[in-house]
Amino acid sequence: MLNVENVKKEFKNNLVLKGINAKVTSGQVIALIGPSGAGKSTFLRCLNMLGKPTSGAVYFDGQDLMKCNDKQLDKLRTKMGMVFQSFNLFENMTVLDNIKVAPIKVKKMADQKATEIAHQLLKQVGLDNKADVYPSSLSGGQAQRVAIARALAMQPEVMLFDEPTSALDPEKVGEVLSVMQDLAQQGMTMLVVTHEMDFAKNVANQIWFMDDGQIMEKNDPESFFSKPKTERAQDFLSKVI
Ligand code: ADP
Ligand code: MG
Repeated sequence: MLNVENVKKEFKNNLVLKGINAKVTSGQVIALIGPSGAGKSTFLRCLNMLGKPTSGAVYFDGQDLMKCNDKQLDKLRTKMGMVFQSFNLFENMTVLDNIKVAPIKVKKMADQKATEIAHQLLKQVGLDNKADVYPSSLSGGQAQRVAIARALAMQPEVMLFDEPTSALDPEKVGEVLSVMQDLAQQGMTMLVVTHEMDFAKNVANQIWFMDDGQIMEKNDPESFFSKPKTERAQDFLSKVI
């Protein structure tokens, strides 16, 4: 589904991604972990060309994103749901409208159909009772669940998460992880940047450990957490677990 070939990203003489090679296949749940500053967010942004790589190639559904024009990119981006640390909901719209707006505007979906889908997604994230409220009245955990529902409304092929629980109060983290776990069990393809090691261990089926602009190790969760192959990963784990 996604194929990344020798992707490099440079900011003003600072090589932040040093040649990433990676493949995501349908149904995979990948946890991307590593220390702050490793380049995880930069990498995620390269996957949907929010930040264009300096060199290399990114193929999505067989198309080379580096060679796409803006119109083609907009179309492909609708198939990649993205959820950030900050929820970025539209504050002037109800929860329901937040979820409906992109399918209606971008996909030209009929209002009634979009409403149906939005309610169904709100049920899925446990928030159908919040359809008519405004985002300002939601807790962080609720807002993030709405953000996930909003991304899902476009019926994406893959969901990219960048530290979706890092901005939440500790007692709200579980409700968001549980929605993500359900999504994984339903077969959604997911790439999740996270510091939640239990989620990585129990939900992901592959761990990518990133440090210093490179993916240092790709491993299955059990092997990664019991006997990481690289010293850097060992060192990282000794600090976070
Ligand atoms: P992570 O998400 O793993 O914490 P980032 O991808 O955010 O790491 O950042 C990796 C490195 O790239 C950092 O040194 C950061 O300062 C640098 N960086 C990220 N975005 C920019 C930018 N827009 N301009 C300049 N440097 C950047
Ligand atoms: Mg980051």
